[in-house]
Amino acid sequence: KGVHLKEEKMRVSSSAVIDDGKTPIVLDHGDPTMYEEYWHLVGEKTTVVIHGQQGISYFSDASKVCWFLEPQFERAVIRLHKVVGNAITEGYHIVVGTGSSQLYQAALYALSPSDLLEPIEVVSEAPFYSSYPLITDFLKSGLHRWAGDASKYDKDGPYIEIVTSPNNPDGSTRQPMVNRSGGMLIYDLAYYWPQYTPITYPANHDIMLFTISKCTGHAGSRIGWALVKDEAIARKITKYMEISTIGVSKDSQTRAAKVLDVISDSHVHKGNFDGISPFFDHSYDHMAWRWQQLREAVNKGKLFSLPVFPSATCTFSGRTFGPLSAFAWLKCESEVENCAEFLKQHNICVRDGSFLGSSSKFVRISMLDKTEKFELFIQRLSIMNTAIA
Ligand code: PMP
Repeated sequence: KGVHLKEEKMRVSSSAVIDDGKTPIVLDHGDPTMYEEYWHLVGEKTTVVIHGQQGISYFSDASKVCWFLEPQFERAVIRLHKVVGNAITEGYHIVVGTGSSQLYQAALYALSPSDLLEPIEVVSEAPFYSSYPLITDFLKSGLHRWAGDASKYDKDGPYIEIVTSPNNPDGSTRQPMVNRSGGMLIYDLAYYWPQYTPITYPANHDIMLFTISKCTGHAGSRIGWALVKDEAIARKITKYMEISTIGVSKDSQTRAAKVLDVISDSHVHKGNFDGISPFFDHSYDHMAWRWQQLREAVNKGKLFSLPVFPSATCTFSGRTFGPLSAFAWLKCESEVENCAEFLKQHNICVRDGSFLGSSSKFVRISMLDKTEKFELFIQRLSIMNTAIA
């Protein structure tokens, strides 16, 4: 009870911010600093001590496909997926990466045939995560090249499709778009966690990418993992990591393992977690509160609109809800053609929709920043919306 009051107080105290309209509000990146509040409440439970003699070797378990995977990190990943029920881990190889960004590159490498005359084309349904085209073409590789919106892709031949579900930026649930054989799929499930979307099935695709960045908020640890069905593909993904960085920081894996275990504990030992809400309950409540604030601000006038997606029942929480996306995919409804420019005039920096395979009528806004900044943003948006309506 005491801690619930503490949680409440943190939110109320931050709502006292008064906007002068001038402070720049940068919500361009998906920096998940929102989560600092929860980990502050949890306190010492996530502290890890790493002694000087620990983690010196390059190797973790040389008998494993992923020889630099720390066993305690592997156990924590399997345990959390079991607790949440969002992915099957039996029969899968786990490969750890320096964020899921590195795993994305590694998966492209692993899936790209080496005997093609032309690079294999990589597509994803628009609007898509703006880093996909950047990463895919960064080194102008002879192996793969970005080919844009999967819904417009009608070429013959092999291709790789990225299925991001729920999607960055709009939170929609996605299925493969290019409806023919000859394609290889990478499922980016960075947001398939119960604070963002109802968990409806344990995912069991051939290649699935996850990251702690969006699950727990610890983006700075740079830890992601791939669940890979096929051993040969898992070996190639591991090879990429071996050649590029000779493995992944053990210090980071140790910390990530601790954080994931604390999350599992917060749910498994619900009533016995020092009165602190279990992680996904707390995060769901916070996201639901943020989305309510945003929808109210948008509904105050006719300047903007937000997409609406169907609700579903979450097998993890039993709640029925629609997506609580980590980003708002906001559309300027007025004659304004460049929504990002328009918001910039009000000192709000967000990502132009044209970088995400869509148009400048749309912008992507992070919903995961600190509460204070989020509230300032809501205040400013409400004022703009009522003043100009
Ligand atoms: N995939 C998606 C869909 C993302 O939104 C992000 C982060 N913005 C990533 C992957 C990369 O995450 P990481 O921090 O693990 O590299």
